[in-house]
Amino acid sequence: MNYLDIAPLTVLVYLPFKFLIILKNTDIQIIASIKQLLTAAKLNIAIVPHEHPDGDAIGSAIGFAEVLSGFGHHVQIMSPSDYPDFIKWFSSKVEITVCNNKIKRAKEILDRSDVLICVDFNEASRAGKLEKMILEYKNPKILIDHHPYPTDFCDFVVSETHYSSTAELLYDVINEIGLEKHINKNAAEALYTGILTDTGSFNHNTSDPNTFKVVSELMKFGIDTKKIQSEVYHNFSVSRMKFLGYCLSQKMTVFPELRTAMISISKKEQEDFNFKTGDTEGFVNYPLSINNIVFSAIFIEKDDIVKASFRSKGDFPVNHFSHDHFSGGGHINAAGGEINLPLDKAVEKFTQLLPDYKRQLLETVI
Ligand code: 5GP
Ligand code: MN
Repeated sequence: MNYLDIAPLTVLVYLPFKFLIILKNTDIQIIASIKQLLTAAKLNIAIVPHEHPDGDAIGSAIGFAEVLSGFGHHVQIMSPSDYPDFIKWFSSKVEITVCNNKIKRAKEILDRSDVLICVDFNEASRAGKLEKMILEYKNPKILIDHHPYPTDFCDFVVSETHYSSTAELLYDVINEIGLEKHINKNAAEALYTGILTDTGSFNHNTSDPNTFKVVSELMKFGIDTKKIQSEVYHNFSVSRMKFLGYCLSQKMTVFPELRTAMISISKKEQEDFNFKTGDTEGFVNYPLSINNIVFSAIFIEKDDIVKASFRSKGDFPVNHFSHDHFSGGGHINAAGGEINLPLDKAVEKFTQLLPDYKRQLLETVI
């Protein structure tokens, strides 16, 4: 075979490698740069998940921290705010600093770090009180995330929206940068938890076989999936369970003609049920179990704002809805946002907006 015969073949073989086959959106150069950065020397590394971190944010941070520590880096996780008990049981002993109002301590950690890695968010404002410090950070910043519409605040961006979770994506990134031999049981447990929670126990975002491939590889580390399931999902306090019952029986409004259901919760009600961080996590999913409901919303009164969470079925894009009306974002079927209004006004705004979406809601195929 002479050169001319194989030239077209060379082009065909070369082309897919400009972008990695698994990481569809990430130029091979970005991965090469991250690999160089994280494997050339021992570093101080800070990892930041988003504010009010969920299982994917904390699981990804811990999973990556375990791997990077295994390589020999000194790693610290900085959570912008506290996180719920049901994601506080990890076997990993990696240090997690909850920043809340400890701005000085957060600054010290960042000043000492050579690299900052942001996981599971793609706009600096999602880091809450750490936003300014992240924007002003001078050393290299890496972003690993699966949310749509990334903003430009990091030097090296791995943004892959077709992944179920940042944890699944991280597993592939760890392999691509050649650190897979440092995945241990603690890392596997944390990454598995990220996938588990972002798919609602493998209930949604599971159409890509890669998700199950990664899960099966993580399970080879001997993680106890029964224990994880029970820590995450069978860990309600009595008051949280009663609070859920109260919200569904007393606080849920259904608009059948708009295929929508809504729950609102005041601060007083949270106090009455002895509210703890994370207690309302997942409440917004329940109304989607009602026959023919495609859109579910929850409004939770906080100190100075109302926090909103949205869920949907089919192709009704709650991330657009949240972006357009509640300064938020997220995924097509799971999004959040906030608004600076009293609770009743936030609810009024929502109910007045709904008729504008009637056609879209009625046309949504489920
Ligand atoms: P949750 O409703 O469980 O808090 O969040 C659902 C999804 O929306 C997650 O992917 C989360 O990262 C995103 N999200 C939640 N709150 C906000 C927000 O205030 N702004 C943006 N941009 N995304 C949010
Ligand atoms: Mn996530």
